[in-house]
Amino acid sequence: MALFQDQKGKNIINYQKMINEKKDTIRKYYDEIGHLYYGQYKDMNIDVTKDINARCESISNIYKDIEELNIKILREKGLKKCAICSTENQLANAFCFKCGARFADDDAIPADVIAPPNACATPPSEKPAAPAQPTVAEAPAAVEPEASAPEATGSEEI
Ligand SMILES: [Zn+2]
Repeated sequence: MALFQDQKGKNIINYQKMINEKKDTIRKYYDEIGHLYYGQYKDMNIDVTKDINARCESISNIYKDIEELNIKILREKGLKKCAICSTENQLANAFCFKCGARFADDDAIPADVIAPPNACATPPSEKPAAPAQPTVAEAPAAVEPEASAPEATGSEEI
């Protein structure tokens, strides 16, 4: 247990380090944007729009990366954030305890964080060789005794 906790702590530190590095990069871009803008202020013949936009785009992407890292940190802590009200919830919650918003499917508990007893969807590695294109043709009702595991219903209330 202690080892497990240590690993979580290490992961969190690692994510935090990555976030700090990304924030440094953002600061660098802001700095460059400031210089570019000032250059244009000094000489209106210089068009820096492209240079500034490129950096703004990069900053937006980095913010997204940081958000993902923050989500990973929360997960290490057994938490997830409500997309509506930003309240931190337990990973197992299907609805936000504060505002009642439903958590999207991609907020579902990853198997490596908490293994729910009956939600272990077997990977589709043993699928019969099917055509790549998604045909809507009626299935010929092949009766396979065990291959009819029902899809997870989404509600896992006990
Ligand atoms: Zn909420």
